[in-house]
Amino acid sequence: MTPAIESRDLGRRYRRTWALRGCTLALPEGRVIALVGPNGAGKSTLLNLAAGLLQPSEGTLRIFGEPLDDRPAALARISYMAQETALYPTFTVAELLTFGRRLNPGWDDRWARERLSRLRLPSDVPAGRLSGGQRAQVALVLALAKRPRLLLLDEPLASLDPVARHDVMALLMESVAEAGMTVVLSSHIISDLVDTCDWLVTINQGRVQVSGDIDELLATHRLLTGPREALDSLPPRLPVVAHTVNGRQASVLARIGAHRLAPVWTVNEVSLDELVLCYLRQPASSALPGPTSVR
Ligand code: ADP
Repeated sequence: MTPAIESRDLGRRYRRTWALRGCTLALPEGRVIALVGPNGAGKSTLLNLAAGLLQPSEGTLRIFGEPLDDRPAALARISYMAQETALYPTFTVAELLTFGRRLNPGWDDRWARERLSRLRLPSDVPAGRLSGGQRAQVALVLALAKRPRLLLLDEPLASLDPVARHDVMALLMESVAEAGMTVVLSSHIISDLVDTCDWLVTINQGRVQVSGDIDELLATHRLLTGPREALDSLPPRLPVVAHTVNGRQASVLARIGAHRLAPVWTVNEVSLDELVLCYLRQPASSALPGPTSVR
């Protein structure tokens, strides 16, 4: 199947600083993809490139198999919700809907109105007078009413309280189940995304470290504990993400695959939180094709 987003050696720089570099990815269609990385990692840059809001400095990018260009038909397939939800504060929700309808050929006005009323979002109130959670819900309804094939959300939950976070994610998941679109959502907190996403991309210091099906990543990564001397007996080509030594004991997070380990090692599964944390703590680690070991 043609990937929803496919990039090869994609890079973007601002003057001499690379915000994103060497990004080679194939993100499958129909998935809910978590883009996770610390602040400044390059998440917004990647999303802006995919939305056509930024031009690459190098490399190529294809959306549903086609180079991204600014033809209305190409852009109509993509909805992008920026980090700071930019709803015009003096416009009412009803006026924002009118804008959406006039600007977007595939606009589903009935769906948007029905959804806003089910969420009890008032249509006659200026967006600036809504709570942060309500604004995020309105912005998401507007992004979804475009009926995109690809929905890009940059930190949609940042600055929302736990109830608003839950409501926004519930609206998103219900809409994904209805429409079967591809969603990429970024966060610097994995726990926001753990229940909703089925594909993980981690990005660190402008480089993509991991891109994979979450179940497969969890099935292939293991936490090993054993005596520190046993570190030398690890298979030489074993992809080690991180290792720590505490006194006489060593802990290793590794992508095991078909590698066989000496019986001195106790092997445990890892949670998604642990896996993401280990990668993010080791910017040089990567589970992509190419050099994988950091030892
Ligand atoms: P994230 O979304 O993961 O927080 P960004 O993609 O916003 O990261 O930023 C990646 C890097 O690019 C950071 O070092 C940031 O300072 C830099 N950067 C982003 N936008 C600009 C810009 N407009 N001008 C200069 N540097 C920028």
